[in-house]
Amino acid sequence: MSKEQVKVDQPVDTKEATDGAPAKGEGAQAEAQGHRGAGKGKKRERKTYEIDIFRAWCKACGICAAFCPRQCIEMDEEGLPVVTAPERCTGCGFCEIHCPDFAISVAQKRAKRTEEDEAADG
Ligand code: SF4
Ligand code: SF4
Repeated sequence: MSKEQVKVDQPVDTKEATDGAPAKGEGAQAEAQGHRGAGKGKKRERKTYEIDIFRAWCKACGICAAFCPRQCIEMDEEGLPVVTAPERCTGCGFCEIHCPDFAISVAQKRAKRTEEDEAADG
């Protein structure tokens, strides 16, 4: 039997075969695409944090630099911590909580006001 004969003798009606239901995985795929598409055009703004180190209170133990999961803090040549990569900070608060001298504070930065905001306020 050649390939052509198979096509002619056994026509496959996909609609009938699946009874109108989407093929396995098709529905989930479409749903996932729908979810992905839902946020299109609405770019979520990334939160940024300000890390303040009050060096006068710091005893240079190095806990903050050693345990920051994002390596935002490094120790300088004087042995004191400096914030070298604030853009990587997730605001987890680990440094603030674990500093034995309460020498660090982490706060979320407020979003910059746009001209539209100014206009809305009058
Ligand atoms: S808040 Fe977390 S990520 Fe940010 S500097 Fe402190 S320990 Fe690192
Ligand atoms: S954890 Fe506190 S005391 Fe220790 S180095 Fe960092 S800021 Fe200084």
